[in-house]
Amino acid sequence: MSIQFGPEYVRAIAPYQGGKPISEVAREFGLDEAQIVKLASNENPLGMPDSAKQAMLNAVADIGRYPDSNGFELKAAISKKYGVPQDWITLGNGSNDILELAAHALVQTGQSVVYAQYSFAVYALATQAVGGRALVVPAKNFGHDLSAMADAIQADTKLIFIANPNNPTGTFIPEQEISEFLKRVPSNVVVVLDEAYNEYLDASLQYESISWVKEYPNLLVSRTMSKAYGLAGLRVGFGIAQPGLTDLLNRIRQPFNVNSLAQAAAVAALNDKDFLRQSAQLNADGYAQLTRAFEAMKLEYVPSYGNFVLVRVGNDDGAGARINLELLKKGIIVRPVGNYGLPQWLRISIGLPQENAAFIEALTEILG
Ligand SMILES: *Cc1c(COP(=O)(O)O)cnc(C)c1O
Repeated sequence: MSIQFGPEYVRAIAPYQGGKPISEVAREFGLDEAQIVKLASNENPLGMPDSAKQAMLNAVADIGRYPDSNGFELKAAISKKYGVPQDWITLGNGSNDILELAAHALVQTGQSVVYAQYSFAVYALATQAVGGRALVVPAKNFGHDLSAMADAIQADTKLIFIANPNNPTGTFIPEQEISEFLKRVPSNVVVVLDEAYNEYLDASLQYESISWVKEYPNLLVSRTMSKAYGLAGLRVGFGIAQPGLTDLLNRIRQPFNVNSLAQAAAVAALNDKDFLRQSAQLNADGYAQLTRAFEAMKLEYVPSYGNFVLVRVGNDDGAGARINLELLKKGIIVRPVGNYGLPQWLRISIGLPQENAAFIEALTEILG
Protein backbone atom coordinates (compact mmCIF):
# COMPACT_ATOMS: atom_id res chain seq x y z
CA MET A 1 0.00 0.00 0.00
CA SER A 2 1.33 3.44 -0.87
CA ILE A 3 1.90 6.02 1.81
CA GLN A 4 -0.98 8.44 2.28
CA PHE A 5 0.03 12.00 2.98
CA GLY A 6 -1.93 14.64 4.80
CA PRO A 7 -5.05 14.57 6.93
CA GLU A 8 -8.11 12.56 5.89
CA TYR A 9 -10.20 15.76 5.58
CA VAL A 10 -7.85 17.08 2.88
CA ARG A 11 -7.78 13.77 0.98
CA ALA A 12 -11.59 13.77 0.99
CA ILE A 13 -11.84 17.06 -0.92
CA ALA A 14 -13.30 16.82 -4.44
CA PRO A 15 -11.35 19.37 -6.51
CA TYR A 16 -13.17 22.48 -7.78
CA GLN A 17 -14.60 21.99 -11.27
CA GLY A 18 -14.30 25.18 -13.26
CA GLY A 19 -15.60 26.05 -16.70
CA LYS A 20 -13.69 24.22 -19.45
CA PRO A 21 -11.09 26.46 -21.11
CA ILE A 22 -11.70 27.29 -24.79
CA SER A 23 -8.33 25.80 -25.83
CA GLU A 24 -9.18 22.46 -24.18
CA VAL A 25 -12.56 22.19 -25.92
CA ALA A 26 -10.93 23.06 -29.25
CA ARG A 27 -8.40 20.23 -28.80
CA GLU A 28 -10.89 17.65 -27.52
CA PHE A 29 -13.57 18.22 -30.13
CA GLY A 30 -11.38 19.24 -33.05
CA LEU A 31 -12.88 22.72 -33.27
CA ASP A 32 -11.46 26.09 -34.21
CA GLU A 33 -10.99 28.27 -31.08
CA ALA A 34 -12.53 31.23 -32.87
CA GLN A 35 -15.86 29.39 -33.32
CA ILE A 36 -16.18 28.46 -29.66
CA VAL A 37 -18.60 30.30 -27.40
CA LYS A 38 -17.86 30.17 -23.66
CA LEU A 39 -20.78 30.87 -21.35
CA ALA A 40 -19.45 28.89 -18.41
CA SER A 41 -17.72 31.05 -15.80
CA ASN A 42 -19.90 34.13 -15.29
CA GLU A 43 -17.28 36.37 -16.83
CA ASN A 44 -18.14 39.78 -18.25
CA PRO A 45 -18.57 39.21 -22.02
CA LEU A 46 -17.20 42.72 -22.67
CA GLY A 47 -13.86 41.70 -21.18
CA MET A 48 -11.90 44.26 -19.18
CA PRO A 49 -12.70 47.98 -19.31
CA ASP A 50 -10.33 50.07 -21.47
CA SER A 51 -9.61 52.29 -18.46
CA ALA A 52 -8.31 49.26 -16.56
CA LYS A 53 -6.30 48.01 -19.50
CA GLN A 54 -4.52 51.35 -19.81
CA ALA A 55 -3.78 51.49 -16.08
CA MET A 56 -2.44 47.96 -16.20
CA LEU A 57 -0.19 48.71 -19.17
CA ASN A 58 1.18 51.76 -17.35
CA ALA A 59 1.90 49.62 -14.29
CA VAL A 60 3.96 47.17 -16.35
CA ALA A 61 6.89 49.62 -16.21
CA ASP A 62 7.30 48.81 -12.50
CA ILE A 63 6.73 45.07 -12.66
CA GLY A 64 10.29 44.31 -11.54
CA ARG A 65 9.33 45.52 -8.08
CA TYR A 66 7.17 43.79 -5.50
CA PRO A 67 3.58 45.02 -5.27
CA ASP A 68 2.48 47.37 -2.49
CA SER A 69 1.61 44.77 0.14
CA ASN A 70 -0.89 47.15 1.74
CA GLY A 71 -2.48 48.07 -1.57
CA PHE A 72 -2.67 51.74 -0.59
CA GLU A 73 -4.11 53.12 -3.84
CA LEU A 74 -6.67 50.36 -4.21
CA LYS A 75 -7.76 50.60 -0.58
CA ALA A 76 -8.05 54.37 -1.00
CA ALA A 77 -10.35 53.84 -4.00
CA ILE A 78 -12.47 51.29 -2.10
CA SER A 79 -12.51 53.50 0.98
CA LYS A 80 -13.80 56.44 -1.05
CA LYS A 81 -16.38 54.42 -2.91
CA TYR A 82 -17.85 52.65 0.13
CA GLY A 83 -17.24 55.23 2.86
CA VAL A 84 -15.17 52.97 5.12
CA PRO A 85 -11.69 53.57 6.62
CA GLN A 86 -8.76 51.72 5.04
CA ASP A 87 -8.32 49.49 8.08
CA TRP A 88 -11.74 47.98 7.37
CA ILE A 89 -10.53 46.55 4.04
CA THR A 90 -8.85 43.23 3.23
CA LEU A 91 -7.59 42.74 -0.32
CA GLY A 92 -7.78 39.28 -1.84
CA ASN A 93 -6.40 37.36 -4.80
CA GLY A 94 -9.98 37.20 -6.04
CA SER A 95 -12.76 37.15 -3.46
CA ASN A 96 -12.15 33.39 -3.29
CA ASP A 97 -9.09 34.37 -1.25
CA ILE A 98 -11.28 36.34 1.17
CA LEU A 99 -13.57 33.32 1.68
CA GLU A 100 -10.57 31.10 2.40
CA LEU A 101 -8.94 33.63 4.70
CA ALA A 102 -12.15 33.72 6.72
CA ALA A 103 -12.21 29.92 7.08
CA HIS A 104 -8.51 29.74 7.97
CA ALA A 105 -8.66 32.59 10.46
CA LEU A 106 -11.84 31.52 12.22
CA VAL A 107 -12.42 27.77 12.04
CA GLN A 108 -10.47 25.02 13.78
CA THR A 109 -10.65 21.34 12.86
CA GLY A 110 -13.97 19.87 13.96
CA GLN A 111 -15.77 23.19 14.39
CA SER A 112 -18.83 23.86 12.28
CA VAL A 113 -19.61 26.15 9.35
CA VAL A 114 -23.14 26.84 8.08
CA TYR A 115 -24.01 27.33 4.42
CA ALA A 116 -26.92 26.56 2.11
CA GLN A 117 -27.54 23.66 -0.24
CA TYR A 118 -26.90 24.80 -3.86
CA SER A 119 -24.72 27.69 -2.71
CA PHE A 120 -21.25 28.54 -4.05
CA ALA A 121 -18.91 25.49 -4.20
CA VAL A 122 -16.03 27.33 -2.57
CA TYR A 123 -17.86 27.41 0.79
CA ALA A 124 -17.60 23.63 0.99
CA LEU A 125 -13.98 23.66 -0.20
CA ALA A 126 -12.87 26.33 2.28
CA THR A 127 -14.62 24.48 5.10
CA GLN A 128 -13.06 21.13 4.20
CA ALA A 129 -9.58 22.62 3.79
CA VAL A 130 -9.52 23.49 7.48
CA GLY A 131 -11.22 20.28 8.62
CA GLY A 132 -14.40 22.13 9.49
CA ARG A 133 -17.77 20.41 9.88
CA ALA A 134 -20.23 21.54 7.23
CA LEU A 135 -23.82 22.17 8.33
CA VAL A 136 -25.55 22.32 4.96
CA VAL A 137 -29.03 23.80 5.23
CA PRO A 138 -31.62 22.64 2.65
CA ALA A 139 -32.44 25.31 0.08
CA LYS A 140 -35.88 26.89 -0.21
CA ASN A 141 -36.95 27.53 -3.82
CA PHE A 142 -33.29 27.06 -4.85
CA GLY A 143 -32.18 29.85 -2.52
CA HIS A 144 -31.11 30.45 1.08
CA ASP A 145 -33.58 29.65 3.86
CA LEU A 146 -32.18 32.16 6.35
CA SER A 147 -34.55 31.25 9.11
CA ALA A 148 -33.47 27.58 8.89
CA MET A 149 -29.85 28.71 8.68
CA ALA A 150 -30.19 30.65 11.92
CA ASP A 151 -31.78 27.56 13.52
CA ALA A 152 -28.86 25.43 12.30
CA ILE A 153 -26.24 27.36 14.28
CA GLN A 154 -24.62 25.17 16.94
CA ALA A 155 -22.46 25.96 19.98
CA ASP A 156 -19.29 25.35 17.94
CA THR A 157 -20.38 27.24 14.80
CA LYS A 158 -17.75 29.83 13.86
CA LEU A 159 -18.72 30.91 10.39
CA ILE A 160 -21.73 31.27 8.07
CA PHE A 161 -21.47 31.79 4.32
CA ILE A 162 -24.25 33.54 2.42
CA ALA A 163 -24.18 34.38 -1.29
CA ASN A 164 -26.47 37.18 -2.43
CA PRO A 165 -27.26 36.81 -5.28
CA ASN A 166 -26.41 33.12 -5.10
CA ASN A 167 -24.32 31.16 -7.59
CA PRO A 168 -25.25 28.79 -9.31
CA THR A 169 -28.97 29.36 -8.79
CA GLY A 170 -29.18 33.16 -9.20
CA THR A 171 -31.59 33.61 -6.28
CA PHE A 172 -31.73 36.84 -4.27
CA ILE A 173 -32.47 37.48 -0.59
CA PRO A 174 -34.26 40.79 0.05
CA GLU A 175 -32.89 43.34 2.54
CA GLN A 176 -35.49 42.72 5.23
CA GLU A 177 -34.69 39.01 5.50
CA ILE A 178 -30.96 39.60 5.86
CA SER A 179 -31.54 42.28 8.42
CA GLU A 180 -33.69 39.93 10.54
CA PHE A 181 -31.15 37.13 10.14
CA LEU A 182 -28.23 39.30 11.33
CA LYS A 183 -30.16 40.11 14.50
CA ARG A 184 -30.53 36.40 15.25
CA VAL A 185 -26.87 35.37 14.74
CA PRO A 186 -24.84 35.19 17.97
CA SER A 187 -22.14 37.88 18.09
CA ASN A 188 -19.30 35.31 18.24
CA VAL A 189 -20.30 33.77 14.89
CA VAL A 190 -18.94 35.47 11.78
CA VAL A 191 -21.24 35.98 8.80
CA VAL A 192 -19.65 36.29 5.35
CA LEU A 193 -22.05 38.06 3.02
CA ASP A 194 -20.67 37.26 -0.43
CA GLU A 195 -21.93 39.86 -2.89
CA ALA A 196 -20.06 38.78 -6.03
CA TYR A 197 -22.98 39.80 -8.29
CA ASN A 198 -24.09 42.93 -6.44
CA GLU A 199 -23.34 45.25 -9.37
CA TYR A 200 -25.95 43.50 -11.51
CA LEU A 201 -28.80 44.22 -9.10
CA ASP A 202 -31.46 46.65 -10.10
CA ALA A 203 -31.30 49.93 -8.12
CA SER A 204 -34.65 49.05 -6.53
CA LEU A 205 -33.10 45.93 -4.93
CA GLN A 206 -29.83 47.46 -3.73
CA TYR A 207 -29.37 47.72 0.02
CA GLU A 208 -26.63 49.20 2.19
CA SER A 209 -24.67 46.18 3.37
CA ILE A 210 -21.92 48.54 4.57
CA SER A 211 -24.30 50.03 7.14
CA TRP A 212 -24.70 46.51 8.55
CA VAL A 213 -20.91 46.18 8.71
CA LYS A 214 -20.88 49.34 10.85
CA GLU A 215 -23.48 47.80 13.15
CA TYR A 216 -22.16 44.21 13.37
CA PRO A 217 -18.49 43.49 14.28
CA ASN A 218 -19.10 39.89 13.16
CA LEU A 219 -20.07 40.73 9.56
CA LEU A 220 -17.67 40.47 6.60
CA VAL A 221 -18.95 41.67 3.23
CA SER A 222 -17.09 40.24 0.27
CA ARG A 223 -16.91 41.76 -3.22
CA THR A 224 -15.11 40.83 -6.41
CA MET A 225 -13.67 42.56 -9.47
CA SER A 226 -14.14 39.32 -11.47
CA LYS A 227 -17.74 39.61 -12.57
CA ALA A 228 -19.27 42.98 -13.54
CA TYR A 229 -15.88 44.73 -13.45
CA GLY A 230 -14.46 42.33 -16.04
CA LEU A 231 -11.16 41.45 -14.33
CA ALA A 232 -11.58 37.69 -13.68
CA GLY A 233 -8.13 36.79 -15.00
CA LEU A 234 -6.34 39.33 -12.82
CA ARG A 235 -7.76 37.98 -9.52
CA VAL A 236 -8.89 40.84 -7.30
CA GLY A 237 -11.51 40.84 -4.58
CA PHE A 238 -11.92 42.51 -1.23
CA GLY A 239 -13.58 42.13 2.12
CA ILE A 240 -15.06 44.89 4.27
CA ALA A 241 -15.39 44.37 8.02
CA GLN A 242 -14.68 46.23 11.23
CA PRO A 243 -10.98 46.48 12.23
CA GLY A 244 -11.04 43.54 14.66
CA LEU A 245 -12.01 41.01 12.03
CA THR A 246 -10.03 42.75 9.28
CA ASP A 247 -6.85 42.65 11.37
CA LEU A 248 -7.28 38.92 11.89
CA LEU A 249 -7.65 38.23 8.16
CA ASN A 250 -4.62 40.38 7.33
CA ARG A 251 -2.44 38.44 9.75
CA ILE A 252 -2.75 35.28 7.68
CA ARG A 253 -2.98 36.90 4.25
CA GLN A 254 0.05 36.37 1.99
CA PRO A 255 1.89 39.71 2.04
CA PHE A 256 1.78 40.10 -1.75
CA ASN A 257 -1.49 38.33 -2.53
CA VAL A 258 -2.68 40.95 -5.04
CA ASN A 259 -0.17 41.66 -7.81
CA SER A 260 0.69 45.16 -9.04
CA LEU A 261 -1.05 44.90 -12.41
CA ALA A 262 -4.21 43.74 -10.68
CA GLN A 263 -4.07 46.57 -8.16
CA ALA A 264 -3.63 49.21 -10.88
CA ALA A 265 -6.40 47.80 -13.07
CA ALA A 266 -8.78 47.48 -10.12
CA VAL A 267 -8.40 51.14 -9.15
CA ALA A 268 -9.35 52.21 -12.68
CA ALA A 269 -12.22 49.72 -12.98
CA LEU A 270 -13.74 50.71 -9.62
CA ASN A 271 -14.07 54.27 -10.88
CA ASP A 272 -15.41 53.36 -14.32
CA LYS A 273 -19.13 53.95 -13.81
CA ASP A 274 -19.87 53.95 -17.53
CA PHE A 275 -18.45 50.46 -17.95
CA LEU A 276 -20.53 49.13 -15.04
CA ARG A 277 -23.68 50.69 -16.44
CA GLN A 278 -22.99 49.27 -19.89
CA SER A 279 -22.30 45.81 -18.43
CA ALA A 280 -25.49 45.79 -16.38
CA GLN A 281 -27.57 46.85 -19.41
CA LEU A 282 -25.99 44.21 -21.65
CA ASN A 283 -26.71 41.65 -18.95
CA ALA A 284 -30.36 42.68 -18.57
CA ASP A 285 -30.84 42.45 -22.35
CA GLY A 286 -29.13 39.05 -22.49
CA TYR A 287 -31.25 37.77 -19.62
CA ALA A 288 -34.40 38.75 -21.52
CA GLN A 289 -33.06 37.09 -24.68
CA LEU A 290 -32.28 33.79 -22.92
CA THR A 291 -35.40 33.58 -20.78
CA ARG A 292 -37.68 34.39 -23.75
CA ALA A 293 -36.08 31.46 -25.56
CA PHE A 294 -36.50 29.15 -22.53
CA GLU A 295 -40.15 30.09 -22.31
CA ALA A 296 -40.65 29.43 -26.01
CA MET A 297 -38.96 26.03 -25.56
CA LYS A 298 -41.06 25.35 -22.44
CA LEU A 299 -37.93 24.90 -20.31
CA GLU A 300 -38.07 25.59 -16.60
CA TYR A 301 -35.54 28.15 -15.31
CA VAL A 302 -34.81 29.81 -11.98
CA PRO A 303 -35.34 33.59 -12.13
CA SER A 304 -31.84 35.04 -11.78
CA TYR A 305 -30.41 38.22 -10.28
CA GLY A 306 -26.87 37.52 -11.49
CA ASN A 307 -25.17 37.29 -14.91
CA PHE A 308 -26.21 33.68 -15.53
CA VAL A 309 -29.35 31.51 -15.61
CA LEU A 310 -29.99 28.00 -14.32
CA VAL A 311 -32.15 26.07 -16.79
CA ARG A 312 -33.61 22.57 -16.59
CA VAL A 313 -32.76 20.67 -19.75
CA GLY A 314 -34.45 17.33 -18.98
CA ASN A 315 -36.31 15.22 -16.44
CA ASP A 316 -33.74 12.49 -15.89
CA ASP A 317 -30.51 12.72 -13.92
CA GLY A 318 -28.40 12.18 -17.02
CA ALA A 319 -29.87 15.21 -18.78
CA GLY A 320 -27.41 17.90 -17.69
CA ALA A 321 -24.31 15.89 -18.61
CA ARG A 322 -25.84 14.64 -21.88
CA ILE A 323 -26.97 18.03 -23.18
CA ASN A 324 -23.70 19.56 -22.01
CA LEU A 325 -21.76 17.08 -24.15
CA GLU A 326 -23.95 17.81 -27.19
CA LEU A 327 -23.38 21.53 -26.69
CA LEU A 328 -19.61 21.00 -26.44
CA LYS A 329 -19.64 19.16 -29.76
CA LYS A 330 -21.18 22.30 -31.26
CA GLY A 331 -18.54 24.48 -29.63
CA ILE A 332 -20.74 25.88 -26.85
CA ILE A 333 -19.30 25.71 -23.34
CA VAL A 334 -21.78 26.06 -20.47
CA ARG A 335 -21.63 24.75 -16.90
CA PRO A 336 -23.08 21.41 -15.84
CA VAL A 337 -24.10 21.54 -12.18
CA GLY A 338 -24.39 17.86 -11.25
CA ASN A 339 -21.65 18.45 -8.67
CA TYR A 340 -24.07 20.87 -6.95
CA GLY A 341 -26.76 18.18 -6.82
CA LEU A 342 -28.57 19.64 -9.85
CA PRO A 343 -28.02 16.96 -12.54
CA GLN A 344 -31.04 17.98 -14.64
CA TRP A 345 -29.88 21.58 -14.97
CA LEU A 346 -27.23 23.65 -16.74
CA ARG A 347 -25.95 27.07 -15.73
CA ILE A 348 -25.65 29.47 -18.66
CA SER A 349 -23.58 32.64 -18.27
CA ILE A 350 -25.10 35.59 -20.10
CA GLY A 351 -22.93 36.55 -23.07
CA LEU A 352 -22.98 38.98 -25.97
CA PRO A 353 -26.23 38.92 -28.01
CA GLN A 354 -24.64 36.83 -30.79
CA GLU A 355 -23.18 34.38 -28.24
CA ASN A 356 -26.56 33.95 -26.55
CA ALA A 357 -28.11 33.43 -29.97
CA ALA A 358 -25.54 30.74 -30.88
CA PHE A 359 -26.31 28.93 -27.63
CA ILE A 360 -30.08 29.15 -28.18
CA GLU A 361 -29.73 27.85 -31.72
CA ALA A 362 -27.56 24.91 -30.60
CA LEU A 363 -29.88 24.02 -27.71
CA THR A 364 -32.91 24.19 -30.00
CA GLU A 365 -31.27 21.77 -32.44
CA ILE A 366 -30.25 19.36 -29.67
CA LEU A 367 -33.65 19.27 -27.98
CA GLY A 368 -35.36 18.92 -31.34
C1 LIG B 1 -17.42 34.04 -8.88
C2 LIG B 1 -17.77 34.04 -7.42
C3 LIG B 1 -16.87 34.41 -6.42
C4 LIG B 1 -15.41 34.62 -6.57
O1 LIG B 1 -14.83 35.04 -7.60
P1 LIG B 1 -13.33 35.56 -7.55
O2 LIG B 1 -12.98 35.55 -8.98
O3 LIG B 1 -12.52 34.65 -6.72
O4 LIG B 1 -13.42 36.93 -6.96
C5 LIG B 1 -17.28 34.45 -5.12
N1 LIG B 1 -18.53 34.16 -4.79
C6 LIG B 1 -19.43 33.81 -5.69
C7 LIG B 1 -20.81 33.51 -5.25
C8 LIG B 1 -19.07 33.73 -7.04
O5 LIG B 1 -19.98 33.31 -7.94
